[in-house]
Amino acid sequence: MAAPRAKKRFGQHWLNDEQILNHIVASANVSKGDRILEIGPGTGLLTRRMVPYAKRVVAVEIDRKLCQKLRNEFQATDHFYLIEGDYLDLNLPEQFVAQCTNENKNEPEWLPLNKVVANIPYYITGPILENMLGRISQPNPQPFESITLLVQKEVGDRICAKPGTKAFGALSVRVQYLADCEIVCPVPAKAFSPAPKVDSAVVKLMPRALEAPATNPKRMETLVKVGFATKRKMLRNNLKSLMERDHLTTILEELKINPQARPEDLGVDQWIALSNRI
Ligand code: SAH
Repeated sequence: MAAPRAKKRFGQHWLNDEQILNHIVASANVSKGDRILEIGPGTGLLTRRMVPYAKRVVAVEIDRKLCQKLRNEFQATDHFYLIEGDYLDLNLPEQFVAQCTNENKNEPEWLPLNKVVANIPYYITGPILENMLGRISQPNPQPFESITLLVQKEVGDRICAKPGTKAFGALSVRVQYLADCEIVCPVPAKAFSPAPKVDSAVVKLMPRALEAPATNPKRMETLVKVGFATKRKMLRNNLKSLMERDHLTTILEELKINPQARPEDLGVDQWIALSNRI
């Protein structure tokens, strides 16, 4: 059967590579106890591979036509639930429970969804990440065990970057504060149809609480935002508006951070230490 024509406005690119699809499911370690959340199942290429291995798959798809097809294909599958709508408009997890109960499926106990596995629409990567992880000042109170996502390669590199590298930025600090992150594999643009303009990568995020979180997470958020305002500048110049330069130099020296450091040179621990000290 020919795949439906992809709609640009919904960021539709079908991932056609068998090997990569299987690799995504394997790296998410989808197994019998798992309740999976999938954003943007599309034509079901990834969904089909997860459904046999999971306890439950809840998929959220915005495209009405695709929803009809998915409903037809999976109507006999008791542990597959489709929510038609915009993921960002959902009220999680209450809406899942309500909607799934409405569908009258025979679901004796309701355990929260524990993993995300999705080839997401790239145009809402930022909001999706924030929705799933929360923010430094407000981590998701019911964190997922793992979040396995296909993202633009450049975004994946930024999420997983090590301090001192070019890709390390505010996004790296915000995400790595909330989760351990790794690149699972690169995915070339030609693995999709239609091919997007950019290469992609599969990333796996494992949310966890830090042993020593920032004492004032709101302050840490502001510090990261202001600190990375201009990347190639020295940190102490970026932070001019927050603090007098000599004072900051003293604090940096106390923390054994080179006063000439640039924002991308500080790891998450150092951002926390700095935030706790000012
Ligand atoms: N997972 C599929 C399709 C990925 S393309 C595959 O691997 O082939 C991204 C999918 O997200 C499309 O199906 C698109 O319709 C859907 N989508 C786009 N915006 C969405 C939103 N706001 N909420 C839910 N789904 C969305």
